[in-house]
Amino acid sequence: MGKVIAIANQKGGVGKTTTAVNVAAYLAALEKLTLLIDIDPQSNATSSLGVEPEFEKTIYEVLLGKIRAEDAIVSFSDPYLKFLELIPSKIELVGSEYELIEFQGRERILAKAIERLRNRYDYILIDCPPSLGLLTLNALTAADSVLIPVQCEYLPLEGLGQLLNTIKIVKERLNPKLDIEGVLLTMYDSRLRLSNEVADEIKRYFRDRVFEAKIPRNIKLSEAPSHGKPILLYDAKSPGAISYAKVAEEIIKRNEKTEKIEGLKRQET
Ligand code: ADP
Ligand code: MG
Repeated sequence: MGKVIAIANQKGGVGKTTTAVNVAAYLAALEKLTLLIDIDPQSNATSSLGVEPEFEKTIYEVLLGKIRAEDAIVSFSDPYLKFLELIPSKIELVGSEYELIEFQGRERILAKAIERLRNRYDYILIDCPPSLGLLTLNALTAADSVLIPVQCEYLPLEGLGQLLNTIKIVKERLNPKLDIEGVLLTMYDSRLRLSNEVADEIKRYFRDRVFEAKIPRNIKLSEAPSHGKPILLYDAKSPGAISYAKVAEEIIKRNEKTEKIEGLKRQET
């Protein structure tokens, strides 16, 4: 069964899309079959991978029930991205929060749409919009876990409270298995006191749920999207690239460990 990870934080500009695109690319480079779903109307993950979606073949049509998720999947020709696929987004998705409001079970539309895809992939990553609206709720309901990027340039705990509360509500009402995959410190600058304060505060609160790898502020990470490439194809030696590779490795390590434990439990019973 593939693991579904939503990348969420209602604050914009914290590194959700950069994380979704680059972690997905590294998981794929490590030969994990990975699907990235762009569920943000701004479509930054889609454009960051150089994808111009085909007419009426995006997550928008999938959510409205016009096409199947399978029919919106895009693949990549680069050999490093052989294991990566994408369901693109487009700006029209912006209206979907209202269009979907009438739907029965409107929080579960994405979960249902990707049900059949789960066992086709090792990982499915969902890049969420910067809000806690219906699209993010759909992602959290479809997900096994949430990866929360936190920008080390603001004291974040206040905004995080809202997100954690939403996660709690989703867990209670829609998706009991939802877990926190981890908190990822982004735009970290070890020279800045604020960066270190944020890192300390986050670690005190989330403990071993914080990824060991921190993402440094790195210009290469902000240049790569305009070339339509993940950092691995743009500058694989940059500090940003190296740290995102480590995040992908941490995710694989944690999840394979959990799988092993689950397997042992099954043997015992
Ligand atoms: P979000 O999806 O949360 O809105 P993005 O991933 O789009 O955030 O990042 C916001 C902006 O910051 C983008 O222009 C992106 O290229 C840039 N950025 C993200 N992470 C870094 C980083 N570690 N170093 C430098 N620039 C970054
Ligand atoms: Mg984004």
